[in-house]
Amino acid sequence: MKTRDDVAKKGAELLRAGATMLQTHCPDCKTPLFQLSSGEVVCPGCDRKVVFVKSDEDEKELLELMKVSELEEDLVKKIDQIKEKMSKTDDPAELDKMAKSLSSLLDLLGKLRHKKS
Ligand SMILES: [Zn+2]
Repeated sequence: MKTRDDVAKKGAELLRAGATMLQTHCPDCKTPLFQLSSGEVVCPGCDRKVVFVKSDEDEKELLELMKVSELEEDLVKKIDQIKEKMSKTDDPAELDKMAKSLSSLLDLLGKLRHKKS
């Protein structure tokens, strides 16, 4: 266990190294957290990096969802294009090819929508 003096010393060291003291406290030892110039957050009490797992994961999830929506939009556009082309062609080979890509696009779209909900 670290003493208060140790923690204060460590905090002062961090400040000298260009770190800033945050308003947030360590969930384990209640010591104010410090943010290093590199962006890392450390706790001088526990002497370790503090990772805000929850917000990180939220952000990741949000990004993922945004990507999925973009992809979904693209897929819908492609599907519309193929449908339009299909209505204009009478070539069976061409129709067959389009039907195949349409089916895989729809399949992908279904998977995406499933993932989102
Ligand atoms: Zn701590």
